[in-house]
Amino acid sequence: MQFDLILIRYGEMAIKGKNRKYFERKLQDHLIRKLEQFKDTRVKKKRDRMYVVLNGEDPHEVMKQCQQIFGIHSLSFAIKVDKVEEEIKKAALFAFQDAPKAHTFKVSSRRADKNFPVGSQDLNHKVGGYILANTDGITVNVHKPDVELKIEVRNDAAYITAQDYPGAGGLPVGTTGQSLLLLSGGIDSPVSGYLTMKRGVQIEAIHFHSPPYTSERAKQKVLDLASELAKYGNKISVHIVPFTALQEKIHHEIPEGYSMTVMRRMMMRISEQIARNREILSMTTGESLGQVASQTMESMNAINEVTNYPVIRPLAAMDKLDIIELSKKINTYPISTLPYEDCCTIFVPKAPKTKPTRENASYYESNVDFEVALHEAVKQTEIIEVQANQKTKEEFKDLL
Ligand code: ATP
Ligand code: MG
Repeated sequence: MQFDLILIRYGEMAIKGKNRKYFERKLQDHLIRKLEQFKDTRVKKKRDRMYVVLNGEDPHEVMKQCQQIFGIHSLSFAIKVDKVEEEIKKAALFAFQDAPKAHTFKVSSRRADKNFPVGSQDLNHKVGGYILANTDGITVNVHKPDVELKIEVRNDAAYITAQDYPGAGGLPVGTTGQSLLLLSGGIDSPVSGYLTMKRGVQIEAIHFHSPPYTSERAKQKVLDLASELAKYGNKISVHIVPFTALQEKIHHEIPEGYSMTVMRRMMMRISEQIARNREILSMTTGESLGQVASQTMESMNAINEVTNYPVIRPLAAMDKLDIIELSKKINTYPISTLPYEDCCTIFVPKAPKTKPTRENASYYESNVDFEVALHEAVKQTEIIEVQANQKTKEEFKDLL
């Protein structure tokens, strides 16, 4: 006995009216790409449901991959058997025994094929009895069972499902537009990217890199983070901006207390320009209120002056501990906590101004000619495409 299918249920997508077809197509595309490694699987859509035909591939491995795809509310394994009572009983027992930690159950049968000789109630009792007879310490609970065994007797066959597995929720990536994620090597911005993707946004990433102050490994770390994020959607284009010239200029020509504010404003300007070039309509950052000097209300206000693009800040109102927990869940934490310095840590002044003003920032900037350096940074930006599961280059492996 083995599972034949994985049934896929999409929650929120169901209410999206005429966009529904589009959402479904995207979801199906994501599933097909995600399951490429399982060569025999097929992803099918039939009226209101989508399912994966396993064709002998490892059900639990396929399930794990499906659970990373946004737009899925829940999933369950299904067994397809001939419409024969004995077959149905055996399948039900198998499905029940696969469910983790189930002590109570109930059986719910539906008979679409009215020619099937056993009525639904009757089938519930017979299958329930069979399970009780073949297990130890298991009881029926019709009100709040650990597992609801569902049996559907349709025209072509009988389908049996047991445990519901949670999906990743959200909306299929690519259905709600694009955003340019400012991706540092830290803990916050990858989590921020994840949450934005969860709302159906396709992201590209931008990283400010300051060699030789920041190492090649710091850059590689960002590419590895992007590769983790790519698991939840498509491949990700990472824009690597050479930021050294601008940082040195800021360091030398802007009063120390404002160097961080001005640096952030430069990042926003460059990001907006690149977003514009790529026809991306928003930016996403990992800013979280009150975390560090650059993230006071005053600071955000001064930084945000330079762009009128929407800036998505999924972490703005989240606690650090919750952010860390999420980063562990999505597997970016171990990469984020590798020690390589990013450009900000190196140039950050000892005492950055925590209450900068727009007026002062503009005034200090007006004394310096940043035009050429800004233009050059955008022009020399390198684009690297990163796939899911892209391994860190061999040469860095032993260093990580
Ligand atoms: P993170 O953990 O994401 O690095 P942080 O807590 O260190 O964030 P800041 O240093 O204030 O906070 O950075 C705020 C946001 O600015 C980051 O979340 C990120 O979106 C962006 N950012 C900072 N440094 C870079 C960089 N080198 N390249 C791209 N984006 C950056
Ligand atoms: Mg950081």
